[in-house]
Amino acid sequence: MSDEKTMIRIFSHDNSMVVHNIKNILENNGIGCELKNVFGGSAAGEVPPIEVWPEIWVDELQTDKAAELIEEAMHGAKDKTHWRCPDCTEENPPAFEICWSCEAEKPN
Ligand SMILES: [Zn+2]
Repeated sequence: MSDEKTMIRIFSHDNSMVVHNIKNILENNGIGCELKNVFGGSAAGEVPPIEVWPEIWVDELQTDKAAELIEEAMHGAKDKTHWRCPDCTEENPPAFEICWSCEAEKPN
């Protein structure tokens, strides 16, 4: 028997700040995750044939909870409001602690 976990790709987005926010949310909820393709491109500096988006992979056993958290993070619980970044004026889902666009911190 192997102790290795089966990791499942649960989320991918072309904006790495969105991916980082989601990762923070998952980890704050006790879900371990791995990032892949965070730096994009290849080590050799060649442009990949298809665009590579950063990905979040989680333990297979935690995909249900992770999917729920991501759904809430991206679309927001109805009773929470999105916040507007004071720096770049982009709207962020309530669960985001950092602006997805410019990395500014969520205002109090
Ligand atoms: Zn911003």
